[in-house]
Amino acid sequence: MRASQLYAPTLRESPAEAELLSHKLMFRAGLIRKAAGGMYTYLPLAWRTMKKIMQIIREEMDAAGGQELMMPITQPAEIWHESGRWAVYGPEMMRLKDRHGRDFCLGPTHEEMITTLVRGEVKSYKQLPLMLYQIQNKYRDEIRPRFGLMRSREFVMKDLYSFDKDTDGMNVSYQKMYDAYTNIFTRCGLKFRAVEADNGAIGGGHSHEFTVLAPSGESNIAYCESCDYAASDEKAELKIIHAEAEEMKPLEKVSTPDAHTIELVKNYLGVPIEKTIKAVAFQDDDGGLILAFVRGDHEVNEIKVLNATGALHLHMAEESAITAAGGSAGFMSPIGISDSAKIVVDATVMEMYNAVAGANEVDAHFINVNPKRDFDAEKIIVADIRMVQEGDPCPHCGAALKMTRGIEVGQVFTLGSKYSKSLNATFLDEGGRETYFEMGCYGIGVGRTMAAAIEQNNDADGIIWTRAIAPFEVVVVPVNAKDSAQLEYAEKIYAELKKSGVDVLLDDRKERAGVKFKDCDLIGYPVRATVSPKTLDSGSVEVKVRRSGEVFNFNRADCIGGILSLLENL
Ligand code: ATP
Ligand code: MG
Repeated sequence: MRASQLYAPTLRESPAEAELLSHKLMFRAGLIRKAAGGMYTYLPLAWRTMKKIMQIIREEMDAAGGQELMMPITQPAEIWHESGRWAVYGPEMMRLKDRHGRDFCLGPTHEEMITTLVRGEVKSYKQLPLMLYQIQNKYRDEIRPRFGLMRSREFVMKDLYSFDKDTDGMNVSYQKMYDAYTNIFTRCGLKFRAVEADNGAIGGGHSHEFTVLAPSGESNIAYCESCDYAASDEKAELKIIHAEAEEMKPLEKVSTPDAHTIELVKNYLGVPIEKTIKAVAFQDDDGGLILAFVRGDHEVNEIKVLNATGALHLHMAEESAITAAGGSAGFMSPIGISDSAKIVVDATVMEMYNAVAGANEVDAHFINVNPKRDFDAEKIIVADIRMVQEGDPCPHCGAALKMTRGIEVGQVFTLGSKYSKSLNATFLDEGGRETYFEMGCYGIGVGRTMAAAIEQNNDADGIIWTRAIAPFEVVVVPVNAKDSAQLEYAEKIYAELKKSGVDVLLDDRKERAGVKFKDCDLIGYPVRATVSPKTLDSGSVEVKVRRSGEVFNFNRADCIGGILSLLENL
């Protein structure tokens, strides 16, 4: 391909609405253009990358036993009525009517379509397992389309659905997809983690979100660099931290005027924060008081408190409720509080010695609190209720956890028989019994994966593609394409690279060298081979690696081999 014929309009400025770096860079590098809110045209460079990502996805889906098909994007309302989701899907579903007034939607997902396809035709367990997938546009009228391709209203998704005869089979299919996803994102050169996810509304079974680690992501992730553990901050389990054992001193009440925060009490008493116990007071939907206690330097994880107490919602407690239970806001502890309050103590707190906690009266604290001795074991719930923090020990291997933000690029779910039941899709098992399929569904956002790759791989000059998904692997740049000697020299290198199977672009535009170099850096080709009067004279080629900035001067005779070996590590 020649840059003079390539439709890749680069820009100096990005649109004001673009907040995210990947969004700005895709505009500026001539990858995408907006058609309407959340609807984009993929220009040739972007589409080349999208096709490479889709090819990787196809290879891995096929290797795992998937078969590609293509279902209609437009789906009849009837099948959604049958599953019960027409009414519940809400305004995110794009709906339309045909000329006869019949209802349709543009598919946001295809569980209904695939299940009704298979139900009439897969009749025996002998035809299972079955994995069918497609790559096509999906439609979701997102309430806030933003961040360019990250959250758009029309986007390309790979969706695969698995059908098995029992849950064991379903779990095997799930594991195959989990492994295939790991291969896909590894091959794309992404730093990612499979994060345990809530199956939430879909119900039952398990789910992982494949999350690309990037500071601009929408989710908070705790992850370990020593093993593959990763979880959302709300889900991360935590090990108990054991304080060094001490002789338990007698409990004592001391005056702490105005010390109603941990910071104030620690300073007033001159104790380290790890020796203090902090209280957070909630009320449940019925007004019942819930007191949560964590170490002074820890934070309460409300989801874990919900799970530990069985409450449905938590509201910040009214002062009157605290007083009614015999407590005093800012000075609370489980010691001497009314039985009407539910008390949840973080498991780490139970391992503290001679700590400081409120005395349930204004301007007073207890010192030498030893929870194992002083808390009434009958009345308290002990559980992991704290929020993960950077440096907490990994629950799997003990190394210090890191915190980051992440972008969900794919998700795998086991569905069980949710859809086969609601859509009455059965087969005959070994014993001739009519049985519901055990299903799974597995999605990857192709455009979001491309955007996430840019979020993770860029610098002040532009995008830095990994070789596997770069729109072109190498660009050959004659600094002055008007000079026929340079152009000819560059043409030969271009032809030889092409012959060696390299996906190469020749920048034959008659632009100034500075303009061409800027564009190359902005678009982010992994390798640039430059031909200049100097290289022409010395019979060499200057080769620059976009990511590292390293420059090599290869002899003309060695340059193809040199470029090929550089590409191996990009
Ligand atoms: P999110 O929580 O980000 O809205 P989701 O959990 O609803 O996504 P899934 O139904 O799991 O998404 O869809 C599978 C994949 O499709 C997602 O992992 C994501 O990569 C992609 N995807 C979902 N919604 C969008 C969107 N609006 N724009 C671009 N890609 C999307
Ligand atoms: Mg998801």
